[in-house]
Amino acid sequence: MQPRDLSAHEAYVPGRGAEEVARDLGMNPEDLTKLSSNENPHGPSPDAVAAVESGAAEVNVYPKASHTDLTDRIAQKWGIDASQVWVSAGADGAIDYLSRAFLEPGDEILVPEPGFSYYPMSARYHHGEASGYRISKDDDFEQTADGVLSAYDGERIVYVTTPHNPTGSTLPREEIRTIAESLDDHTLLAVDEAYAEYADHPSSVELLEEYDNVAVLRTFSKAYGLAGLRIGYAAVPEAWADAYARVNTPFAANELGCRAALAALDDDEHLERSIETARWAREYYHDHLDVPTWPSGGNFVLCEVGDASAVAAASQERGVIIRDTSSFGLPECVRVSCGTREETKRAVEVLNDVVADLRPEATEL
Ligand SMILES: *Cc1c(COP(=O)(O)O)cnc(C)c1O
Repeated sequence: MQPRDLSAHEAYVPGRGAEEVARDLGMNPEDLTKLSSNENPHGPSPDAVAAVESGAAEVNVYPKASHTDLTDRIAQKWGIDASQVWVSAGADGAIDYLSRAFLEPGDEILVPEPGFSYYPMSARYHHGEASGYRISKDDDFEQTADGVLSAYDGERIVYVTTPHNPTGSTLPREEIRTIAESLDDHTLLAVDEAYAEYADHPSSVELLEEYDNVAVLRTFSKAYGLAGLRIGYAAVPEAWADAYARVNTPFAANELGCRAALAALDDDEHLERSIETARWAREYYHDHLDVPTWPSGGNFVLCEVGDASAVAAASQERGVIIRDTSSFGLPECVRVSCGTREETKRAVEVLNDVVADLRPEATEL
């Protein structure tokens, strides 16, 4: 007995967890600063925590009313119809829903390289294939419509990520319009806005009224601090919004997650504090790291360090977990998430020390 041929499938490589690393190194997890998964260093909104606590006694019931309430609340936030909000288990779940709704076996998607690995993974799960467009270090990872369109060859879904993970670069609104207007009729443009709260550009949700070939992905995992509860959504045009009923995994968005997301949406103070900290931290990284960094619209900064795997390992031994971006195709870079002020300063000290110690001149002395 064997599963189907999975040789084209790669396992997702997550940032390592503090407990996991602590166990390996014989350290106390509390002594570790985890800056490898772009999580919210302030934790979840206290209102979301209260919602989880008060909902705990009712998890014997399938999530139905809470899902409807969350859908309505998100629709109200954006001024769109509730049918246009596809709530899912994380934005990853929404990526799967788009794959299910759009891909026939053998269909292709076009994705950024380097880029978020779940786009091609999801396409392959749905018997599709992926090819890439370059976001090039030589151009400081600048994203343009031309860069996407020059690689475009009639794929069924084109993904753009803004702000882009792992580089932090953003794709301006006019470029998004150009792409939407240049694609063939059968191609969907999926705009991944997992980090949009941290950027200062307007959301592409505003484009849904004008274009029926644009979908926007959002998540509660980053700025809202609810990564562990797995809630995200796609905002889609009215023209095909009813496909959700046919592709949605029943009850995939869980009861506590829906309740927590509802509470988080009303806690502006927590959201603003989270955004403020991230904007401060990314500037602090640019100003104080002794290695090249790139401007970031997200809650993380990409740094060029030489041997990323050695730097990430050494930094981890000194208590700061960062993300080696080799699995993104950038083996000379690491991605450091924005922490609290204290965590961010500690990360700068450790990273600067590690890089200095690992310089070839240092070892020759
Ligand atoms: C984190 C992230 C997501 C979604 O994460 P979920 O936790 O599944 O909501 C989507 N796209 C990018 C680029 C991300 O970095």
